[in-house]
Amino acid sequence: MYLVLLGPPGGGKGTQAKRLQETHGLVQLSTGDMLRAAVASGSDVGRRAKAVMDAGQLVSDEIVIAIIDERLDQPDVAKGAIFDGFPRTVAQAEALDAMLARKGKKLDLAIEVRVPDEFIVERITGRYTCAKCGAGYHDTFQKPKVDGICDSCGGTEFVRRPDDRVETVTKRLETYHAQTAPLLPYYEGKGTLKVVDGTREIVEVTRALEDILGGIG
Ligand code: AMP
Repeated sequence: MYLVLLGPPGGGKGTQAKRLQETHGLVQLSTGDMLRAAVASGSDVGRRAKAVMDAGQLVSDEIVIAIIDERLDQPDVAKGAIFDGFPRTVAQAEALDAMLARKGKKLDLAIEVRVPDEFIVERITGRYTCAKCGAGYHDTFQKPKVDGICDSCGGTEFVRRPDDRVETVTKRLETYHAQTAPLLPYYEGKGTLKVVDGTREIVEVTRALEDILGGIG
């Protein structure tokens, strides 16, 4: 099954993709994670992407499409994947349809995790991850069981994304509405769009997503 999670930055796509990855064995493909890895490695793509990401804008379609195209050739995604943060433009959505079609596959579903803008600033500015294993936490909504210690690996160092600062969040939301929200009518027109209410508790959103996935087998 190939599934796209849509929704604003900080709306919970990554959190939900990780949970579905564990329960459904679907590999999470996050272009944001891949780009951050490229930045950390100091590669050519990473150097070009960093300034754009820090400004809350979109990396070029050409770069992210190439990253996904290469990733889709790997055997672990032959049976399915959850796209998280990709596509972000109509051109990327068209490219994804074409890449899957070339492999004799198709996108089964696009699910919007709907979260109004007024929820986003608190969600984004409160989030952080374990520096060692990448497990995600939040100052208010998802604290580690023991303060300062990662539940997953016992790590004690945590990091915040540079683009999660309040100044950048507004720009990222603007970018979302201008460039990514047009994907909603794109998928609606294809009859593949479903919507879940992303303002609810994490476990309730997962349940709503699982109901939809169960429905398509
Ligand atoms: P994310 O982790 O999904 O919030 O992505 C972080 C940043 O990476 C975004 O604000 C963009 O600058 C860049 N990015 C991630 N995915 C894409 C994409 N599909 N197209 C363009 N830029 C992207």
